[in-house]
Amino acid sequence: MSDEGNAACIVCERPLAGAIFMRLQHEGESVHLCCPLCAEKFDSRKKFYFARVRAQQAFEQTKAKRKKQS
Ligand SMILES: [Zn+2]
Repeated sequence: MSDEGNAACIVCERPLAGAIFMRLQHEGESVHLCCPLCAEKFDSRKKFYFARVRAQQAFEQTKAKRKKQS
């Protein structure tokens, strides 16, 4: 499973399935955007979107750990 394959737009959270408008790197995180509109939104609220992505990743990791343990 590649990172690219399940990438979603950081702003609208739409699965991109390879149709990536823009890819950014921020503090080691890959960020994907689906369209210029989302890029604009992302630009104006970077901190908010990154915080949301971090929270989601933490949640996914917790889920994965639980799966392994059970
Ligand atoms: Zn989008």
